[in-house]
Amino acid sequence: MSNLKKFYINGQWVTPSRANDFQVVNPSTEEICATISLGSEADTNAAVAAARAAFDDWASVSKSDKLALLRRLLDIYKARSEEMAQAMSMEMGAPLKLARAQQVGAGSWHMEGFIKAFETFEFDTPFTDTEMTLREPIGVCALITPWNWPMNQIVLKVIPAIAAGCTVVLKPSEIAPLSGVLFSEFMDEAGFPAGVYNMVNGDGIGVGSQLSAHPDVDMVSFTGSSRAGKLISKSAADTLKRVSLELGGKGANIIFADARDTAPSDGAARCFRNTGQSCNAPTRMFVEASRFDEAVEQVKATAEATKVAPASEDGSHIGPLVSEMQFNKVQDLIQKGIDEGATLLAGGVGRPDGLNRGFFARPTVFTDVTPDMTIYNEEIFGPVMCMMPFNSEEEVIAATNDTPYGLTNYIQTSDTEKRRRVARRLRSGMVETNSSGFAQGSPFGGYKQSGNGREGGAFGIEEFLEVKAVSGWND
Ligand code: NAD
Repeated sequence: MSNLKKFYINGQWVTPSRANDFQVVNPSTEEICATISLGSEADTNAAVAAARAAFDDWASVSKSDKLALLRRLLDIYKARSEEMAQAMSMEMGAPLKLARAQQVGAGSWHMEGFIKAFETFEFDTPFTDTEMTLREPIGVCALITPWNWPMNQIVLKVIPAIAAGCTVVLKPSEIAPLSGVLFSEFMDEAGFPAGVYNMVNGDGIGVGSQLSAHPDVDMVSFTGSSRAGKLISKSAADTLKRVSLELGGKGANIIFADARDTAPSDGAARCFRNTGQSCNAPTRMFVEASRFDEAVEQVKATAEATKVAPASEDGSHIGPLVSEMQFNKVQDLIQKGIDEGATLLAGGVGRPDGLNRGFFARPTVFTDVTPDMTIYNEEIFGPVMCMMPFNSEEEVIAATNDTPYGLTNYIQTSDTEKRRRVARRLRSGMVETNSSGFAQGSPFGGYKQSGNGREGGAFGIEEFLEVKAVSGWND
């Protein structure tokens, strides 16, 4: 990648307006693996101006021409998937097997889902015999993404925005920016018109807040922490731009007594996936009391069998946490769990045996966790899970909903009526039952403080549209 220190603006790789180097650290080795540039206001303004200038033309490009470019992008993405897997593995510590299959795979899967949805998407729909409803692109969109599923999140924003007819400025996470630079190379190779897609690297306080406050940006789509989501909403308020947020979660996994035998160990493995750095991780496991002791044994065995190793090793292990800051945060929360009186079932503070370097945490499980404890309430974003017994459906529904978050909850039971009944009562954007995965294009997003938008497929395209009512259309 020769463009690491450049930005992609108006169809060109450009040198930043002033030098501001930022070092990217490989979390498996703690060594610097790349240097990027952080943008300043002049770079942000240039990218927004390019997107603004390109908007009218791009909005009127035909669906078939847009589709041809998106299909070309998908071909390039697939052809260069190994480069992408290596970039993500190095920047955020995803083991290569996970990076190839899931981190890269999520990007192509969502791209295909958007292309299918776009093919049949109706932008103009008659409302009455004489009135037409038009769906039109909202304008220039700032897309701000995090480090935990880099391609998943970039694709979930860039593709629907440009399919809708918007032009965009992407600001990838400065912690994991290599995949964003590579993706920009793919966009360039696909041949999108100049200014449709722009990318500026930067941090939240710089490019991130400049984009959210920018008077020429019509919408911000953000994924990341609730902290940054609140700041973005405040700084976007002065220009009353649309803000779409995908924030954190504290998902419950409700395991009823009639759940399949492996539900507890499956739930623990799901929680530890991507080293627990997923907004939809099932971090609070509620088990019906009659199965609690058996579930505890199963989960202990799973946690102890979960191998932790560098991202470059081949295998089904989990990698390091993304950064020293994230490592320290997770260590502090594990210590808090111990100090506040929870029982450590597996794991604990410190690195796993044999790993002296790298931001590696131990797969950790607590029991005797009560609702007043920090680990019960806060999103930890590491391989840390809490287990609680429950006695009744009412009790577990109330406990599941007793959080400011509402992203994904999980239900395990063989009773169809109970599954449906409980799913309806959970206050979350998604309810995954019996490990049945979501379909391509299914709406991804949260209730309450987990956010306010939906990503994926036709729902994702709608996010970037305005609705216009026109009377007398057929007069
Ligand atoms: P973050 O929210 O600080 O950063 C995410 C993105 O937002 C980055 O591109 C960052 O540069 C940008 N950003 C930060 N502050 C901003 C601001 N004021 N204005 C505009 N943009 C801003 O996340 P992080 O520091 O990478 O991680 C912190 C915590 O966030 C994690 O511990 C985790 O709990 C949570 N997180 C959640 C998700 C998720 O998918 N829900 C993803 C990543 C992180």
